[in-house]
Amino acid sequence: MQESKFFQERAIQNPWSDVAKADWNNWKWQLKNRITSLEQLEDLIELSPDERAGCRFANKKLALAITPYFFNLIDRSNPHDPIRQQVIPRVQETQTQDGESSDPVGEESSSPVGGIVHRYPDRVLFLVTDRCAAYCRYCTRSRLVSNAQDYNFHPNYKAGLDYIRANPQIRDVLLSGGDPLLLSNNKLDRLLSDLRAIEHVEFIRIGSRIPVFLPQRIDSELCKILKKQGPIWMSIHVNHPNECTSELKYACDRLAFAGVPLGNQSVLLKGINNRAEILKQLIHKLLLMRVRPYYLYQCDLINGSAHLRTDPREGIALIKSLRGHTTGYAIPQFVIDAPGGGGKIPINPDYIESITEKFIVMKNFEGKRYRYPLKPQATQDLNRNYAPSTEDRDWIEPILA
Ligand code: SF4
Repeated sequence: MQESKFFQERAIQNPWSDVAKADWNNWKWQLKNRITSLEQLEDLIELSPDERAGCRFANKKLALAITPYFFNLIDRSNPHDPIRQQVIPRVQETQTQDGESSDPVGEESSSPVGGIVHRYPDRVLFLVTDRCAAYCRYCTRSRLVSNAQDYNFHPNYKAGLDYIRANPQIRDVLLSGGDPLLLSNNKLDRLLSDLRAIEHVEFIRIGSRIPVFLPQRIDSELCKILKKQGPIWMSIHVNHPNECTSELKYACDRLAFAGVPLGNQSVLLKGINNRAEILKQLIHKLLLMRVRPYYLYQCDLINGSAHLRTDPREGIALIKSLRGHTTGYAIPQFVIDAPGGGGKIPINPDYIESITEKFIVMKNFEGKRYRYPLKPQATQDLNRNYAPSTEDRDWIEPILA
């Protein structure tokens, strides 16, 4: 298979063409040269009035930051480019709709100590940094990340580690933030060692968009740490097939070869990935990168996100359009993180038509009806044409006796 067919090099226009390759491939260079202001953006791309106004406001809500690598994935001639819409602010972010809030999934109310969200009995979310390599305009944690609002978020591992240590029911820790892979290798190694030293912590996961925004960060030293501390599971965050570049594939290969099982969490976003053929391309590319599509999220009710949110019924219809029409491994679970703190709730197309005393009546992906027996009597009804031979009876009857 020709790799380039699936994972294109997408430097459509490259304003950094004179940058040395060694610098371009250096994640610290990428971070240092992020686009963080309206003036920088205007030198690189023609902005719409909505975008210009959005950029002026951005640093009061959620900072503007885009790595040069990710910026180069934007087709500058397309005002609706799917990468552009994810990271370039628009004025609509200033408009708060009914039902939106700064903490739409109620994390604050499940936070026993700063940096810990303890919603499910046996697992915690451990927020270990408030920085990301770039900022997604629909971010659920925009109140915390980027510090654009001077939110009082000081990652303090000690209080979080003490909490995890003191609660033996916690067997699963999800490191997130912000992006944990922005921590230095030494800090990350130390943090993972501290967690490994807690006897009841069995399972460690990292949620990161670094492979997507900054694939150069997935270098051999980081992979050595993840291998040494493994098994570490990782959820990456890819929303559109245009993000599936050869650089991302290489980063995923490195992680997979370091023994890191990879899943993907996408957010369903209006005008970005809410079409069946786009989602299908995305999940197929993910499989080819050894990444299992895991969740498709309904966009949370974060302030100023209405222009990116879809009707949840679209998500149901999209999943229905995939089921039976592609590899089962490729189909993510559509979920709504319940407003106010109810946790993630799976939302499935309705395949169950009825449940009677005898049968569960289902419809398959083509809408054809089937029934599955619920009681032994029903099984016998279904098998009434089966008559064991005399020889079979000799061994069946003693077993049934
Ligand atoms: S990478 Fe994650 S935490 Fe950071 S801005 Fe995007 S959604 Fe928010």
